[in-house]
Amino acid sequence: MSEAAQAPSSGWRKSYLLLFAVAAVALLAVMVCGNAAVPFSILTLAAIAGLTFFLAVPRRTGPGGIAHLQPVQDAAMLTDSAKDILECVDEPVLILDPQGRVVFANKASQPLVGADAEKKHISAVLRTPEVLEAVERVLGGASSETIAFSVLVPVQHHYEAHITRTGGFLVLVRVRDLTEIRRAEELRADFVANASHELRTPLAAVTGFIDTLRGHARDDTPARERFLEIMSVEAARMRRLIEDLLSLTRIELNEHNPPAGEVDVAAVIHDVVAVLSPLTAEGRIVIQDAKEPLMVVGDRDELTQVFQNLIHNAIKYGRAGGEVRVRFARAEAPSKREGAGQVVVAIQDEGEGISREAIPRLTERFYRVDVKRSRERGGTGLGLAIVKHILNRHHGRLQIESVPGDGSTFTVFLPGVSLPAAGHN
Ligand code: ADP
Repeated sequence: MSEAAQAPSSGWRKSYLLLFAVAAVALLAVMVCGNAAVPFSILTLAAIAGLTFFLAVPRRTGPGGIAHLQPVQDAAMLTDSAKDILECVDEPVLILDPQGRVVFANKASQPLVGADAEKKHISAVLRTPEVLEAVERVLGGASSETIAFSVLVPVQHHYEAHITRTGGFLVLVRVRDLTEIRRAEELRADFVANASHELRTPLAAVTGFIDTLRGHARDDTPARERFLEIMSVEAARMRRLIEDLLSLTRIELNEHNPPAGEVDVAAVIHDVVAVLSPLTAEGRIVIQDAKEPLMVVGDRDELTQVFQNLIHNAIKYGRAGGEVRVRFARAEAPSKREGAGQVVVAIQDEGEGISREAIPRLTERFYRVDVKRSRERGGTGLGLAIVKHILNRHHGRLQIESVPGDGSTFTVFLPGVSLPAAGHN
């Protein structure tokens, strides 16, 4: 049964007060006029009944002792401008009356409580026991509560609800979506765990060989030479890993700060090929001639790292004796208003290729299709993650295509710089 049926509203209270006043005036009149025993006793009784009833009716209170107003009045207390302001908040906000009914729900709350939450009890729109209990505690007198909760369907989401009694009689429920923050925390924790694991393996090898060299291999010259060689390879692996980790961190920190310089991508690629050529047979890397400078807005060192990682991968994972082809293109924008078009660089190898399922995961940190093979070739599992972050900073993108058995093509798209007028002729 609603409380409205149990107790009169303030309108009723005013009527009783009026009745009492009329009775008192009448009594006074009769007394002044004298001689009225019967009317006196009737009027006295009426006045006392009115007064008693008025005083006996308790002031209505909400479940937790909040002095009560009708829900409609509570809702009316929320002015249109207050509602407009709450609509602008991009996190869910609900206002409840002292009975726990929703008198206002902003648009951002719809994914959480549905589109027609208003006028319903909070327990009908949010079925999370811990939040409902906290709401009850605030309705019951607590000044505020903060509670973390998760919603599992349709997709898992983590939230934190702040439930506060407003200055008046209403209760404010603010909800923060913590899903992204939680996901970032998990990623960071995974990253630290993976990085320590990657470092622990070569470190364990180096430590093991130090013990062996101090022990039974102390006087075994050929064994010592062999072990020192392995230790040097493992130490180099640790150094590469630390360099890649530092690069990745630096690039990530800078990712929202786009580069300002202008770089000729064709020149960068020629320099990269010159550095990597000793790693492969002569003539194995085939570069298409660029007819004109391919200018992009970018950071030369970072773009060097992008093409170094991609061309090195094409050498590492390409077919022994097969070619690595580098092609350039300029994709003009459909109209001048849409910018200067894009510079496109495709790096194609003739290796084993990559399965369809693995392609979307290649730019994840430490993801490797074949861990043993990557390690044998000096890989850290961070090269493509670094490429992705550099391209994000440059507003570029990476496209990976592969036909298992036939090879892979890694294509880089970078926003171009308009050529001087002569270049367009
Ligand atoms: P890694 O240091 O292991 O080479 P990357 O991040 O550069 O790390 O690459 C991640 C994984 O992607 C590699 O371990 C490899 O399995 C796969 N990969 C990268 N480039 C190629 C390629 N050209 N052909 C086949 N597989 C590749």
